[in-house]
Amino acid sequence: MPWPWPIVLDDEVVACAECGTYRDWLIISTRGQVWLRCRAGHQQLETRLGTAWFNRHSGPSDATHATFEDCLRHLGH
Ligand SMILES: [Zn+2]
Repeated sequence: MPWPWPIVLDDEVVACAECGTYRDWLIISTRGQVWLRCRAGHQQLETRLGTAWFNRHSGPSDATHATFEDCLRHLGH
């Protein structure tokens, strides 16, 4: 799901390990893990977020994505 705002976990703003950006994420839930993807295309695993968190924030899903790549395509990346 697109997530244009900063993500705050444990009172810390999550930043991209590669380019340091802290907002305009895609949050991707796959195989029980939650990944953050910045606009520059860097991905990092965010272990502090889980599928329960994701489902709470994403609401009812209109599509199930068989693969990670399908998911990215669906989101326009
Ligand atoms: Zn980045």
